[in-house]
Amino acid sequence: MPKDALTPNECRDMLLAAADRIIESEPILTDADRALGDGDHGIGMQRGMMAVKEKLAGQDFDAIEKPFMTMGMAMMSSMGGASGAVFGTLFRAGGKALTGAPAFGARQLADFLSAGTEGVQSRGGAKPGDKTMVDALVPAAEKAATVADAALPEAMAAVAAAAEAGKDASKDMIATMGRAKTLGERSLGHPDAGAVSVSIIFATLSDYVAA
Ligand code: ADP
Ligand code: MG
Repeated sequence: MPKDALTPNECRDMLLAAADRIIESEPILTDADRALGDGDHGIGMQRGMMAVKEKLAGQDFDAIEKPFMTMGMAMMSSMGGASGAVFGTLFRAGGKALTGAPAFGARQLADFLSAGTEGVQSRGGAKPGDKTMVDALVPAAEKAATVADAALPEAMAAVAAAAEAGKDASKDMIATMGRAKTLGERSLGHPDAGAVSVSIIFATLSDYVAA
């Protein structure tokens, strides 16, 4: 049955599903980062998600923000590098914005993405068009704001589609940040690895709330 108004422990289970999917997707993420960067994104995300599972699995959560913030802190402390900081910030800053919410619905999804995206951009300095995970995140956050009154499964499906479209659009961008910067126009044709991670994460959250 489709789920709306998730409890803290349902949020935990939804995030654990995303962790498992990222771990399984290591080869895809490795290939994506090999095309543009140094090829370590798959292994880094896998390490981060193993740490997330250790902190979340079997824990009882009494507040909506806690599983999200716990996930962010686990990523920050286990991954290192650029992606540890930006992905950790997404979940930590996004989660913090949920403090006091009675449940996780479409409104909270919008709040999470708005604060998370703002946090990532102020931490990492990337703007839309720089060919980073921000190019999947910003369209997802914008979409979430327009569907904040919908039921969560509809809102999450729309957000996942926006993240995927943003990831696809990153193929046509020239990298201006990080290691891919030196490739210049040779970065064309490949999606950004972090944007691939963002689209996998939201596709999994959408599957969780749809089932
Ligand atoms: P590293 O860049 O340290 O090798 P990863 O390969 O794990 O780290 O992650 C690279 C991904 O991190 C990029 O594909 C991009 O999406 C994201 N990223 C890197 N720097 C930034 C930044 N300043 N802002 C937003 N995202 C970034
Ligand atoms: Mg890398």
